[in-house]
Amino acid sequence: MKITFLELEDNYAKVLFENTTPYFVNAIRRTLISDVPKLAIENVTIYDNTSALFDEIIAHRLGMIPLPTHLDLLVFREECSCNGKGCPNCTVHYTLSKEGSCTVYSGDLRPEDAMWAVKDKNIPIVKLLKDQRLILEAEAQLGTGKQHAKWQAVCGIGYKYYPVIEIDSEKCNLCNECVEICPRKVLEIKKKKLDVKNVEECILCKSCEEVCKRDAIKVKGDENRIIMQYETDGSLSAKEVLMEALKILHKKYDELEKKL
Ligand SMILES: [Zn+2]
Repeated sequence: MKITFLELEDNYAKVLFENTTPYFVNAIRRTLISDVPKLAIENVTIYDNTSALFDEIIAHRLGMIPLPTHLDLLVFREECSCNGKGCPNCTVHYTLSKEGSCTVYSGDLRPEDAMWAVKDKNIPIVKLLKDQRLILEAEAQLGTGKQHAKWQAVCGIGYKYYPVIEIDSEKCNLCNECVEICPRKVLEIKKKKLDVKNVEECILCKSCEEVCKRDAIKVKGDENRIIMQYETDGSLSAKEVLMEALKILHKKYDELEKKL
């Protein structure tokens, strides 16, 4: 199997898998969604809350804030040598203390160390009126998307077969209808010839095939080449998350092999 990043940004990736099968890429997709660990707030101790929102709503909102995750520094709390009591190897502490009138943002969470500071500082948590207060302590720990959506690092993930567009130029009369109907503008007429401009943009909707009265265009997907795209919530980078998923999958196959 060959893996190529067609596009790679901090929180977004478009990846091409070659010499593979849909089942295998689907296994990677599912691992990305439910098995890659990330950090999220799990326990909140509220000392003072005179805001308009209940403690539970604030705790839930805190839980959903993406926190930077350094997987090499943390272990799962239930697997930690502290027996789940909470120690620097498995738990990250945050404090928050604000008095109105103001809006409390994710950036107001103060971490014990600067490397755990929330990256997206503009997520509103609650609005405080004059003299209203919010004082709390929060503990973040590792978890996976299988347990709760707040521990899901990847979002908006999907894949498609690599598009293959075949044009029979002898049948084509350059009517331009397929060019116009394509929602992704994949086709063009160039030098009196129908041509494919950017094949990877094709979403296999087959509108061009249906509109062509002369049967000159055929669209199909190549099952052995698959394009996958996904975003992350910022807790892990798009590259890190894929590397981690492959590591987890590798370990699972190893276990299966041993059991066989
Ligand atoms: Zn621990």
